[in-house]
Amino acid sequence: MIGDRSVLVVHDDRMLEHKPNAGEPFLPGRLDRRVREILNGLGIKWDYPEHPGRLSAIMDYLNANPIEGVRFTGARPATDEELCRVHTRSYLSDLYRLRGQSAWLDVDTTAVSPGSVDAAEVAAGAAIMAAEAVVNGEAESAFALCRPPGHHAEPVRARGFCLFNNVAIAAAHARQKLGCERVMILDWDAHHGNGTQSIFYASSDVLFVDTHRAAPFYPGTGLLEEVGAGLGEGTTVNIPLPGDTGNLGMMKALEDILVPATQWFQPDLILVSAGFDPHRLDLCLNLTYDGFRNMTRLMQDLAETHCNGRLAFVLEGGYHLESLSQGVHAVLETLAGADVPPLSEAGFSEIEAAAAFHLNAFRDDY
Ligand SMILES: [Zn+2]
Repeated sequence: MIGDRSVLVVHDDRMLEHKPNAGEPFLPGRLDRRVREILNGLGIKWDYPEHPGRLSAIMDYLNANPIEGVRFTGARPATDEELCRVHTRSYLSDLYRLRGQSAWLDVDTTAVSPGSVDAAEVAAGAAIMAAEAVVNGEAESAFALCRPPGHHAEPVRARGFCLFNNVAIAAAHARQKLGCERVMILDWDAHHGNGTQSIFYASSDVLFVDTHRAAPFYPGTGLLEEVGAGLGEGTTVNIPLPGDTGNLGMMKALEDILVPATQWFQPDLILVSAGFDPHRLDLCLNLTYDGFRNMTRLMQDLAETHCNGRLAFVLEGGYHLESLSQGVHAVLETLAGADVPPLSEAGFSEIEAAAAFHLNAFRDDY
């Protein structure tokens, strides 16, 4: 029943101060300047999809539709030491120099505005707080509403709207400071978490499982054969999916691959890189809210079985404001103890209802 379980949502308005401006001129000498000129010549306007309205939409929906058992807390910024566990010193120094400025960082669309570096530090801190809350027993599960997102950010590079790799920073913190030896990360965002993969590619202490729309879909990585290297060989698990994969396919991927991987790995903590772009409204995969509910319940069951229920979610992508806000709500309701409806092929329940409506018309004895 909703309210049976305690859920902590970490949210902080400072993350709204990351306001990338798509009109910011590119750094000189870049190929992209040429691309921009071509787009401008064609009259195509390109807006930055990762904007503050994403978080506002989520908070507005949660405020209008409160969930029993869910409480909120603000976040603290991550420290330099915490960021340094997954990013290089030179990358961090370069980013700190951009504090208070507007600039483009990378070819694939990561921009900063004057409040961006502070916002990104708070986002990473929010992810850390979610992990701390479940390890320290402050809540049965937690959800960090992070912005900018993190899973494309690599040790040395901002990519794909991401500055700091929030989920990786939380995993590294759990290992370093919270006594967790083994951390499992499921990344169910529709895009491959290239940054998280690269950070832990040679680590045997972090199991990274990623379901995503297969390359050449952005960022083009996440092939089946990318399984980790060195000591980390076998602890990277990629599950590339065709774009029309729906709820049943996603659940099959998790049940057939994630469940045995979790049994083998025996994590002390489970983190979820939760993007909501697998929802069909975001046009990347073909999931519905019931899909997210079932995935969440499976993660709860795995956490109960293997790590005293320790389960923390970190927001990644999701750009359609309706599916983003209602998707987060569906996950939080499930974490709070809501019943989860059984899944069937899309349209089956409506067809069963239609059959019940029509069937008597075909009976002579009625
Ligand atoms: Zn995504």
